[in-house]
Order: sequence, then structure tokens, then C-alpha cells
Amino acid sequence: MTEGSFPSAARRFEAVGFSEIVKVRNRVLELLAAGHKVWRFEGGEPYMPTPQPIKDAMTAALARDETRYAPSSGVPDLRRAIVEKARAKNGIPADDESPIVVNGGMHGLFSAFATLLDPGDEVLIFSPYWTPIVDVVTYHGALPVLVPAERARREGLTAALARAKTSRTKVLYWNSPVNPTGEVFSRAEVEEVCDFVREAGLAIISDEAYEDLIYEGEGHVSPASFPGMFERTFSVFTLSKTYSMTGWRAGYVLVPGRWRRPMQTIVLYSINGVSTPTQWAMLEALRLDNSFLEEARRGYRRRRDALVAGLREGGFEIETAKAALYLFPRVPASLGSDSRAAARALLDTARVATVPGLVFGPEGEGHVRFSFSVPEETIVGGVEALRAFASSPASR
Ligand code: PMP
Repeated sequence: MTEGSFPSAARRFEAVGFSEIVKVRNRVLELLAAGHKVWRFEGGEPYMPTPQPIKDAMTAALARDETRYAPSSGVPDLRRAIVEKARAKNGIPADDESPIVVNGGMHGLFSAFATLLDPGDEVLIFSPYWTPIVDVVTYHGALPVLVPAERARREGLTAALARAKTSRTKVLYWNSPVNPTGEVFSRAEVEEVCDFVREAGLAIISDEAYEDLIYEGEGHVSPASFPGMFERTFSVFTLSKTYSMTGWRAGYVLVPGRWRRPMQTIVLYSINGVSTPTQWAMLEALRLDNSFLEEARRGYRRRRDALVAGLREGGFEIETAKAALYLFPRVPASLGSDSRAAARALLDTARVATVPGLVFGPEGEGHVRFSFSVPEETIVGGVEALRAFASSPASR
């Protein structure tokens, strides 16, 4: 029995959503619990386990009793390795104090937005976008301003950004390779966006979660590598996708001097540092040679190509994604243009789980997202189920 009144949750939550992908997952779990077979493409995780040397490094750290508080911005050896990596691989002119070790990309992004945003500030975001970003911006009382990516890339990035910018614009959220489309912005495009940001006096929060999962074409380009950009960029990296470490919650952000103190403060008062043994495992990950990644990329490419071919046979109009873990096809006309209804029909009838494109912004409507980072049997079974569905009366 309860009596009296209770304080409400903070008002800043009122406009904040809670991942719709979780809703899809819950529906999948219901179907599984009811004994149905479901072909699961709704996730976003590497398909293979964490490499053994990384796990061994965690065990070794425990054996050495590396179990005490570390400095809240990270273990010095790890921070040194991050600086070396950022300079050598990303061309980011990081200094010894730039890296702040965080609980994965999500925490790095949250902390970066928390460092910069006041209520009423505006954030430019290319759409479709990775869903949580709009919620994180909204949580801080700031306003997400969506810039349709496809049109901007066709008609000119500078013009599109200039149209969206106001006197309240403070930050551009940048994500390449892109979740959910698997696209990669070219070096020329990154440079153009950086020129705009510099001239407009904005900051960039650059989400580089998929830097290592590029399968063809130009490689990854970090905005902070362009002249004068390091000073206005939070470069947010995660070990989740590169090293199959989603559950470890391991990432780092390179932060320029002017924002380091507030960013360190957020990290101090939110987590007071990433778990110490995890940081030693992160160090081992950064020291791995390329063979793990090369094998992983071969596996991703094979899965991607098999799923693209299967989806085309199943009536999906689709381009081959160059990067990341996802395909983002248009839904076939027979399923209509409402992506929620289409994803629901695919799940309820073909037992194929996808994420409705609308979840990634209005520009995602008419699409669904498939992850190709799944067991190869799932691709074979899912494609078969889609083919049967496409030829059934229910899909017409
Ligand atoms: N950015 C993007 C674009 C992502 O897709 C993800 C994970 N799905 C993240 C950041 C964060 O990943 P994590 O918190 O596991 O590092």
C-alpha cells in the first residue's frame, strides 16, 4: 500500500525516447519464448568472440592484482598507446593528455555532449542517424536539427549545412562509416564538412565506431586529422566493433585542451574510471597485429555479399554497403512504405527480425535495417523465409 505523493522523474526525461530497437528485441524474445524460430537480423554486434589474447590480458591483470582505482581518465600505459594509435593510424595530432578512457562509445558520446550542450543549443545531425544520438541531445535540453544526408551529398554538403545552421548551432554530430546505412563519406566530403565547421565556429563530435569495418573503397578519415580541426573535435572511438568487445564497455575519446577539464569532470562523476582490469585488456587489444581484423573483415564481407544477393532475390532493392555491419534496403512495394508495418509483417509472417528504418529518422522511412553480422545459417534460413514470404499471398 502506498500513501502520499512521490517526486516525479526529472523533467528533462519528458521528451527523451527509449531505444525502439529494444522494443523489437522484446517482441523477438516473446516469439522465441512461444517456441517460434526467428531469423534474427535486428542486432548490431560482431559475430565472433573477443580474441583470446585480450581475454588473457584481463586474466593476467587480475593475477597481478590490478584491481584498484586507476586515474579516472585512464591507466597511463593505455593512454600512451591510445596517443600512439591516434597519431599513427588516424593522423590525429593528439598530445599525452588528450585521451580519456570511457565505458564504450555510448558513454564517450554522452560525456562529449554533456561537456558542450546547454539547453536551447542546436546540434546538426545527418539523417538517417544512429538512434540514441537524438535522445542524448534532447536529454540535455538541446535541439537535434536533422540534415537529410542523401540530398546533402547530392546537392552539396556545405549548402545543406548552411541552410540548417542558426545562431544557436553549436555542434555537428558526425558518424562515418554510418549506422544504419553502411555508407562511408569520402575524404573530400569530410574535408568539406570540416571547412564548414571551422568557418562556422562549431565543434564536432565525431563517432568513429566503425573505423575498422570498411570493406572497399577509400579508408577511414578522421575529421580531427585536418588542419585546425583537432582543437574543435571530440574523436570518439570504441573497441566494441573492432575487437568484438561490445560487452566489455571499452572506448576512448580524444579531447582537445579547452574541453578536457569539463569532460574529465563528467567521467569522474559518472563512472570514476573504467574498470582497471578492462583497461589492461584494452591495451592488449591495441597491441594486436592486424591478422584478427583481416580475418574478421573477410567474414563480414562474405556475410554481406550473401545477404545482399539473398535480399535481391527476395525482392529488396539494395545497394551493397561499403562498411559497418548493416544493410539498409528499401522495403519491397508489396510491403508498403510504412517501415514499422513492414518490419512487423516480416517478423510476424516470415519470422525475420529487422529494425524499421523510421527509428533512424524520417529519412529512414521506407527502409528496414538488416545486420549481416550474424551466423551464416541465419542468412541462409532468413533468405529462404523471405523468398517463401515474397511468393505467398500474404505479401501481396
Ligand atoms: N556509435 C555508433 C554509430 C554505433 O552504432 C554504436 C553501437 N551500436 C556506438 C556508437 C556505441 O557502441 P558502444 O557503446 O558499444 O561502444
